[in-house]
Amino acid sequence: MRVAIIGAGFSGLALSYHLLQYPSCNVTIFDGKGIGAESSGIASGLLHPYPGEKGRRSWKSFEGMQATKELLAVSEKALGRPVADTGGILRFIPSSEGNTFLEHEKVYKDVSPIGNGWFLLKSGMTVYTSLYLEGLWKAVSSLGAKLHTLFIDHFNALDEYDCIIVAAGAGTLGLLQMEVELQQIKGQILTCKIPEEHSLTNSLIGKGYIATMPEPGYCHVGATYERGFTSLSPNIQTAKELLYPKLSLFYPKVVDFPIEDCKAAVRVARKGHYIPFVKKMGEKHWVITALGSRGLLYHGYLGKILASAIVEEKEAMLPEELGSAVIKNVVL
Ligand SMILES: Cc1cc2nc3c(=O)[nH]c(=O)nc-3n(C[C@H](O)[C@H](O)[C@H](O)COP(=O)(O)OP(=O)(O)OC[C@H]3O[C@@H](n4cnc5c(N)ncnc54)[C@H](O)[C@@H]3O)c2cc1C
Repeated sequence: MRVAIIGAGFSGLALSYHLLQYPSCNVTIFDGKGIGAESSGIASGLLHPYPGEKGRRSWKSFEGMQATKELLAVSEKALGRPVADTGGILRFIPSSEGNTFLEHEKVYKDVSPIGNGWFLLKSGMTVYTSLYLEGLWKAVSSLGAKLHTLFIDHFNALDEYDCIIVAAGAGTLGLLQMEVELQQIKGQILTCKIPEEHSLTNSLIGKGYIATMPEPGYCHVGATYERGFTSLSPNIQTAKELLYPKLSLFYPKVVDFPIEDCKAAVRVARKGHYIPFVKKMGEKHWVITALGSRGLLYHGYLGKILASAIVEEKEAMLPEELGSAVIKNVVL
């Protein structure tokens, strides 16, 4: 089966890897900008089963964590070096916001309270996304995938393929011209230098976060959630105004960290909930999108189940909730 995948972010690469486990599949990836050029390339790399303000355990989090760990191992093997900090993540929950994590400690046993509102998420890790994508692409290309740096604006260009998967992040909406219940949310992160008198052993999450980076002495501070944005460009002033009040609730000294860079990208998410959107859209077209801010938790799992559904030609193999968005108009 000749498969074309549009998009070389987390979704496109995870799907490529899993399709290439089937000898019948031949994969070509098309990306207008290259590997990890949009959201996946700038993601701060936070991965754990309890995302979201309320800290509830996420949908399919066991499967998601497991599948991502498999891909991290694939990437590490290809690169010959670690691509994540697996020492856990510290999460701050003020006592006034309930004891969700005390419940998690009892039920799932992967959370430890360490005092003053802080919890160690033991299964949490910080993925070094650029390295991870580099390793995953290396593994995928060694399995035979081809990459064309080409922006696809119409499916006619891909007529020769038996199957076409749109894994184009924010580009999906323009490409499929579909009106589904999806929203675009701009996210900005700051890259900061950590002054010598401070140290950061683990990523910290409260409202906002400070994430470790592979380069010692640097951290990511993020991320904004900007709906109704008018520009895709990064803007340090706006990022600071949106982030610092939240961060001051758990790590006020971050305002003294010199800012070295600011990056922006767009997340796609379902309206009203966070479950991604994965669906067959026509005779030979499929879509995988709306990973929201949980791309690392879901891309491996979705890539794996979507690959099986494509090869077996059975959309029913996908959990029903993945395709339940209201679709008003689809143009292929
Ligand atoms: C600031 C920020 C911080 C984040 N931090 C985290 C985090 O810590 N943990 C986490 O799990 N998630 C995080 N996320 C979310 C995560 O980045 C996304 O969920 C994930 O990257 C989505 O992956 P994707 O492959 O679906 O899309 P993308 O990464 O956006 O990839 C889509 C690709 O398709 C290409 N493309 C688009 N249209 C076309 C076209 N027409 N033709 C050809 N190519 C096309 C683009 O160039 C791009 O490379 C963050 C997001 C942002 C914005």
